[in-house]
This record gives sequence, structure tokens and C-alpha cells, in this order.
Amino acid sequence: MTELTGMTCEELTAWVKEQGYPAFRGKQIFRWIHQGADFDGMTNLSKNLREELAQRAVAQPVSIRTQRRSELDGTVKFLYELKDGNCVEGVLMRYKYGVSLCISTQVGCRMGCRFCASTLEGRVRDLTAGEMLGEILCANRFMAPEGEKVSHVVLMGSGEPLDNYDNVIRFLHLLREEEGIRLSLRNVSLSTCGIVPKMYALAEENLPVTLCVSLHAPNDEIRRMTMPVANTWSIDEILKACRYYIRKTGRRVIFEYALSGGINAGEEQARELAGRLRGMQCHVNLIPLNVVEERGMKGVTEENVRRFLKVLQEENISATRRREMGDDIEGACGQLRRKTINAARGELADAEV
Ligand code: SAH
Repeated sequence: MTELTGMTCEELTAWVKEQGYPAFRGKQIFRWIHQGADFDGMTNLSKNLREELAQRAVAQPVSIRTQRRSELDGTVKFLYELKDGNCVEGVLMRYKYGVSLCISTQVGCRMGCRFCASTLEGRVRDLTAGEMLGEILCANRFMAPEGEKVSHVVLMGSGEPLDNYDNVIRFLHLLREEEGIRLSLRNVSLSTCGIVPKMYALAEENLPVTLCVSLHAPNDEIRRMTMPVANTWSIDEILKACRYYIRKTGRRVIFEYALSGGINAGEEQARELAGRLRGMQCHVNLIPLNVVEERGMKGVTEENVRRFLKVLQEENISATRRREMGDDIEGACGQLRRKTINAARGELADAEV
């Protein structure tokens, strides 16, 4: 089965011709796909053609297996199902400026961060560009009755986007295809744990996406305690790549910093972090660690977050505490998929997914 979702309009047109159909069908099918339609909904195609296509190709590679809506803020967490039965998560958040969707880029992850639920069992496989787009198309279908659409995308679900580089770049290009969903890349953020060579490569792509870096530590010693990737690249190397990215794109970089009691959350660490980021066009997003039971790391108190933030602000580092959304629905990375997998194995009988 050929997956059509990851093709550009030009590629789809070439494919359609190869199959022996007239070229103009390419653009028609491309438009339908980006509108979220499956073959049976492509009403300007004959029934015969739709059936033929459905036997050879996939138009919508992602469906929603389960969803949970937060009573607190309307955030919706999706468990997406892929054609091979794997599932990944996505989170839909409503803000004043629009609707933001957090998508996954891999099934599982091989980065091994100690605090993260997505990486517990390693990487299963990369998502294709079409599957990443499919996550958005699904969310758009979900919101269609309310007349809403995804306006912002963050690559912050499960997976390390820069470990699936080519598919992610292809996906980004699909977003701005003329006949497609036309989502501005200025509304896209990509989060990495700091794969330095790929950060440089991304800077060269000339795409105006916001780069977010999961720093989580003010020095390499602390970073190595929780992030294995810190054994390969130092914070100095990461910051150098960030400066390059800022120069090339003119966009500020966002640093994510998950506070964990007894590890990285002291005022001393706040001061050290400020020292390293001084003079950089950047912003720090503080996140109180979402405790993942299996990982044995501690969270922090409200007071601790406030103190850390205060130090950064006193040191003139732009910083905010990330608004937590969907706290009641397993909003954090990898948690819902994990529960479902566990439930399927009978380890967690009461998982309500
Ligand atoms: N691999 C990419 C993107 C996926 S993770 C990256 O590392 O940036 C998205 C963000 O959630 C990262 O900043 C990650 O470090 C953070 N995260 C993962 N588990 C978390 C947890 N338990 N509590 C708080 N943040 C967490």
C-alpha cells in the first residue's frame, strides 16, 4: 500500500499518472487528503476510481483510538492509531491565539532521558512525514463540528524529531504546500534534546521554525545524571549551535527546564543557568517535573518554582513557568500510551483509556 499523505502535490500527480489516471486527479486527491478526507469522501472522484485507489493506497494513515478531554481547561489528549497497530500521543490545547497541537515524531524514543515515559522501552520506529501530517488532519477532523482548526504545531510529543530528521523536514515542507493545510512555519516549534550536528543542519534549511532545546541542567555534570545524550554533546556545544541557529534564522531559542527536587532546582542552579545564557536571544520555559512513577524522580513545590523563576528574572533572563494543561488527563509526554500498553498487558487493570 502506498501512503499518499506524505507526498507533495507534484509527487502525488506523478504517482497518479503512473497509475494511468489523468494528471489533474493528483491535485484533487491532494486537496482532499489535506482536508482530512479518506477515499470514500472524495466526492468529485467516481466511485470506481475511489475503490481502485483504496485498494492501492492509504490517504489517512492515522486515526483516533481514544481521546480524553480535560475538565479543567478543554485540553484534549489523543491516542492515535497507526496502520500497523502502533500508537502515539497528541495533545490539543486551546489558547487565546489559536489551537495548538503537540505531535509525536517517533513511536517510543531512544534518547533514554531518565524522567521521560516515552523512552522507557526505546524506539519502536520512526513516523513517516505523512503520519505526522495525519496527526494534524485527525485533530482537524475532530474539531470540524466546532469550526476550528489547528493553527500551531509543536513537535514535542513522543520521539526525538532530530533523530528522524529527513521525515521531519519533509513534514515541515508539506505544511506549506500551496494546496495543502498551509500552516505557517512561524507557528511551528521543534523540540530537541540537543543533537548538535542536526541543529546545525536545521539552521541551514532556512525554515522559520522555533527551536526549543530541552536543557534541564545548568552544567554537564547534572545533565549527564538524567540525559544520556549529554555524554555525547556538551552544553557549550549545544549553546554554540543555538547561537548559530539564532543568527541564521533571526529567531530566539526556547530552553525547556524541567525542575526536579534534589537535582536541578536549587537557587544556585538557577544562578548558574542564568550565567550561561546571559546575552543570548532566548527564553526559558520552566516546567515542574511531571512525576513518572517508574522513573523515581522527584517533583518540586510551587514555592520552589517561584524561587527559581525569581532568580532568573533578577538576572535578566526572560523566563516563564509553562502553563500546565491537561493535568487531569495524563497530558505529559508518553504517559497515556504507557498506560494503554500496561493495561493491554494486564499490569494496570484500571487504566481508563
Ligand atoms: N525529544 C524532544 C521532544 C520530546 S519531549 C526533546 O527532548 O525535547 C518534550 C519535552 O517534555 C522535553 O522538554 C522533555 O524533556 C519534556 N519531558 C519529558 N518527560 C517529562 C516529565 N516527566 N516532566 C516534565 N517534562 C518532561
